[in-house]
Amino acid sequence: MSDYDVDLFVIGGGSGGVRAARIAAQHGARVALAEEYRLGGTCVIRGCVPKKLLVYASRFHGEFEDAVGFGWTVQHASFDWNTLIANKDKEIARLEAVYGTLLAKPGVKVFKSRATLADAHTVQMATGERVRAAYILICTGGAPSYGDRIPGIEHAISSNEAFHLAEFPRRIVIQRGGYIAVEFAGIFAGLGSQVTLAYRGENILRGFDDDVRLHLRADMEKRGIRVVTGRTIAAIENLGEHYSARFSDGNHVTADRVMFATGRVPHVHKLGLKEVGVDLAQNGGIAVDEYSRTSVSNIYAVGDVTNRINLTPVAIREGHAFADTVFGGKPTVVDHTNVPTAVFSEPEVGVVGLTEAQARSRLAQTDVYKSMFRPLKATLSGRDTTVLLKLIVDGTTDRVVGCHIVGEGAAEMVQIAAIAVKMKATKADFDATMALHPTVAEELVTMRTRSATYAREAAE
Ligand SMILES: Cc1cc2nc3c(=O)[nH]c(=O)nc-3n(C[C@H](O)[C@H](O)[C@H](O)COP(=O)(O)OP(=O)(O)OC[C@H]3O[C@@H](n4cnc5c(N)ncnc54)[C@H](O)[C@@H]3O)c2cc1C
Repeated sequence: MSDYDVDLFVIGGGSGGVRAARIAAQHGARVALAEEYRLGGTCVIRGCVPKKLLVYASRFHGEFEDAVGFGWTVQHASFDWNTLIANKDKEIARLEAVYGTLLAKPGVKVFKSRATLADAHTVQMATGERVRAAYILICTGGAPSYGDRIPGIEHAISSNEAFHLAEFPRRIVIQRGGYIAVEFAGIFAGLGSQVTLAYRGENILRGFDDDVRLHLRADMEKRGIRVVTGRTIAAIENLGEHYSARFSDGNHVTADRVMFATGRVPHVHKLGLKEVGVDLAQNGGIAVDEYSRTSVSNIYAVGDVTNRINLTPVAIREGHAFADTVFGGKPTVVDHTNVPTAVFSEPEVGVVGLTEAQARSRLAQTDVYKSMFRPLKATLSGRDTTVLLKLIVDGTTDRVVGCHIVGEGAAEMVQIAAIAVKMKATKADFDATMALHPTVAEELVTMRTRSATYAREAAE
């Protein structure tokens, strides 16, 4: 590898890139990395972390309301958006510095520049430098996509801008029903905005279990979020002080901000991929094998740019597996099954494994266990809310193949339930586990009566 300036060049300093660079360097490789914006990538700078901080902020509103039933008087509670954003930015800057240290310690050289492929072994920096590398890892992540270029789309913001608004929007319209849209609807509603969520399909959170989708929508509506389905925003007009969003059915809504949370696409443009022979997959991401190797043998790709499962822990695991495979002498394949995921909506959603519809199309017999009840906390607070817990069981093997929860703490509960699902625990194992009382999660081990049993159906 000595003909090269470095053994590994990593393009992109996000979750996948930083992990891969650090581990490869710890394995003894000479590593360089280019980041065009800020170290930490989407998750740290404008994704999971700042979002969760905003989610925490938004939940105080409900807590103040709930506190009254427990005897508290909360006087003069008021919220200041600029304080929240300034404090959030301080924490993000701290984390960014931590990422810098993580790379500096094992000796990774960082270029603060956009980087592209000049050939299969040469990386060209926008700042002019060129680096020759034995291996190149592409981890450029994803970028927001606005979908159709409707009239006035230039007035819309994406989640990127939502983290830095100079003024708090008293009214906001959010287009799309995916997890980012639903989370921001909860954030803005909790902080005091009037929120309208507009989605083309029948119901929000396509791909999630149907009971989860129905339950969440009903609870969001109870909390004052207007959910408009079967329609999209067809045009945005700038009215000076605010905007008018026209829906596809001709109705209008006036708002201080219009947000398009319209999903993200792999960041593959103008990287020089085609010129060096790196193929794209049908999903628009870089095509890779199980070791994350692309169609060019010394070029690999991990994380959102491959559009496999676009979550931080997955990008990190893929980056680590790449480094172990290529520089650690330990070929490692990432298992992409039973990846738990959460929606930090209000109320929260946590899921792992198959939905009921997936199970019914794949398994000879599917047993469904479902429980919906008013949590203890809501009795005194008076909040009109219920939690949903649902287990999907393979009726032939008794294995729990899916766990779906909507309610406070759902993400934390599902992280633990995911261990059991991954270990192939059976419903009998769940039943044999003693309940921890009084909790919401105890229902996972006390559901004895099947809600339904289904024989295999036609494919979804
Ligand atoms: C609003 C939002 C909320 C999210 N919430 C969650 C969550 O709660 N949980 C979760 O698991 N995931 C969440 N995600 C997804 C998560 O952020 C991504 O899956 C994760 O960041 C992917 O890591 P990555 O390394 O593939 O890419 P990224 O983290 O996106 O990193 C890519 C980096 O490459 C840089 N780059 C791009 N092109 C170039 C170039 N040519 N040269 C140099 N640098 C370049 C970019 O600036 C970026 O820093 C969220 C995403 C968003 C947008």
